[in-house]
Amino acid sequence: MRRTITAGNWKMNMDHVEGVSLAKDIVAGLEGRDPACEVVLIPPFTTLPAVVEAVDGSRIETGAQDLWYEEKGAFTGEISAGMILGLGCRYVLVGHSERRHVIGEGADILAKKLRAALSGDLFPIYCVGETLDERENGMATTVVTEQIRQILEGLSGDEMGRTVIAYEPVWAIGTGKTATPDDAGTMHAVIRSVLAEIFGAPVAGETPILYGGSVKPGNAAELLAMEDIDGALVGGASLDAKSFLGIVFPA
Ligand code: PEP
Repeated sequence: MRRTITAGNWKMNMDHVEGVSLAKDIVAGLEGRDPACEVVLIPPFTTLPAVVEAVDGSRIETGAQDLWYEEKGAFTGEISAGMILGLGCRYVLVGHSERRHVIGEGADILAKKLRAALSGDLFPIYCVGETLDERENGMATTVVTEQIRQILEGLSGDEMGRTVIAYEPVWAIGTGKTATPDDAGTMHAVIRSVLAEIFGAPVAGETPILYGGSVKPGNAAELLAMEDIDGALVGGASLDAKSFLGIVFPA
């Protein structure tokens, strides 16, 4: 059976004091309950060590929002896969739309980051998604297919087996607009069929494909009910324990 994951991307929010408080509230909210999904918290780098400590002994996993692709050296401001793994984190985001569209990362760098994450024994969460313009011009499927092929082709089946995909339409991130369950489900099915062409049906069938884009407690259940949606990557709603837990346990 495929893994399902609810991951909270805190972005550049929550300093180490606020982050510990939020993490502890989430740990408390999970106590005595058995979520159907893995729960992953993805704080900013400076908050990460404190959150790793705060969730120790709970079922919560942690991840980083980015990494650099070299192991060490003169890369001021960057951190490596080994540093993330060394903290006890398992996950790392690669290709989040804010890194693509605000910071300007392109396919070359993302391919290197994804491979560095895998060689560093992390589980990359590789984010893809079209802009509003691309959707309105009927390009959504082409763009997302290209983002998958460009970066993932060439991975071994074992490497793909450790990779998680997040489909996040750029126009839905932080905007309050959400893809309809049918539109999101259709894109997830497209992604799975592209993965099947590259890696074969068994690997594609095991790959968790998360949806991201204004997921909230009020819309999580209908999105997560879609066959090819295996969880959520949550931004804004992950900054509040009650709303994040409302997605972990969708009503
Ligand atoms: C995200 O940051 O990945 C995201 C989906 O943000 P939001 O839930 O706020 O749209």
